[in-house]
Amino acid sequence: MAQTTDAPSVVLINGQWFDGVRFTARTMYMSHGVFTDLGTGKPDSVIDLRGRFVIPPFAEAHNHNFDAGSPETARALVAKYTDDGVFYGQNPSNVLRARRGLAGFVNVPTGIDVTFSNAGLTGPGGHPMGLYLRNLGRGAMLPTDTNSTEGFIWIIANKADLARKWPSILAGKPDFIKVMLLYSDEYEKRLNDSTFFNWRGIDPKLLPEIVQRAHSAGLRVMAHIETAADFRNALESGVDQIGHMPGFRGNEQTKLPDVAPYELSDADAELAARRGAFVVTTLGGVAALPTNGPDSVMRRTADRLFARNLRMLKKHRVRVIVGSDSYRTTSVPEAMYLASLGVYTNAELLRLWTEETPRAIFPERRIGRLVPGYEASFLVLDKDPTADFSNVKTIRLRVKQGFTIPSK
Ligand SMILES: [Zn+2]
Repeated sequence: MAQTTDAPSVVLINGQWFDGVRFTARTMYMSHGVFTDLGTGKPDSVIDLRGRFVIPPFAEAHNHNFDAGSPETARALVAKYTDDGVFYGQNPSNVLRARRGLAGFVNVPTGIDVTFSNAGLTGPGGHPMGLYLRNLGRGAMLPTDTNSTEGFIWIIANKADLARKWPSILAGKPDFIKVMLLYSDEYEKRLNDSTFFNWRGIDPKLLPEIVQRAHSAGLRVMAHIETAADFRNALESGVDQIGHMPGFRGNEQTKLPDVAPYELSDADAELAARRGAFVVTTLGGVAALPTNGPDSVMRRTADRLFARNLRMLKKHRVRVIVGSDSYRTTSVPEAMYLASLGVYTNAELLRLWTEETPRAIFPERRIGRLVPGYEASFLVLDKDPTADFSNVKTIRLRVKQGFTIPSK
């Protein structure tokens, strides 16, 4: 996957290259799609970067818009992502036909690279049944989209159910497994109470076995979570990624009257760090809410909660990664919102977005760093993003695995 034999040999002069902390002036070489030590033989070309700023490409750790129903929508999706400089993505819940629609457009050198969980695992009446029923009602999903390899949701009630459905789950060749935890400390109470329809998930007692089955099949596990209790249950069961930060969408009324259930403790953060788990942010949705006036309470409460939890994770060196869960956008607005919270410096946030996030999605690949032996994929920015984070939007040149990607 790393080497692309027909990619040109190029010398890159006069660039300032990001090393995860700062920019330094260097000459770099690439050949066959990877960065190399000193050029061997005569290069095909020399590119003068004129003092501009070179960073690894961005990534999007949580988005369901990696899907396509036609070649036109597939092409538009790839163009939207490459234009924003987001070359790596992760779709944690998709139907197989949406994934098939992207075949040939993703996971090729000049496209974007995406992993798919296929259908997510939830409990009876669990999230995202509400979304599924809405989509079914408007004809966007099919009656056969539950409990089938082609579908959107696996409903798993108990151990026997899991054992029975597991072969069909693997039959869809998922890249990873997605499970739903929602208020998992109240699983029994919520299970047969219709007021909690769609606001419950899988039985947390099944999670250790799911993780063990997934890991033996060579698959990582991402857990959807809502609360700090879910965060703990997920980590104690051994999941590899936490798909959201607690309180990311508020309670059942999308409000935050009491933030206590969503506050991460030192012990929670310490556990995440010890397990080496990645935590996906998905916090930028609140950026649409007003910061002033009578309707600003939710926004202010959310900003405070999110900044507090991020500081807690940062303090314990937890591997926080950037994901938006925003169907209409790439991860750019999410990263801009994170920058606005001021928890991470611009350089720290850039490293989370361009180094940690791609490596969480493709742990087996040498990506996210601009050094010999790594894939020659990068963005060239006109202006310094460590000086002003919005400069991440000043993309002048996009290169993936040695190939220049044309802009729209
Ligand atoms: Zn999601």
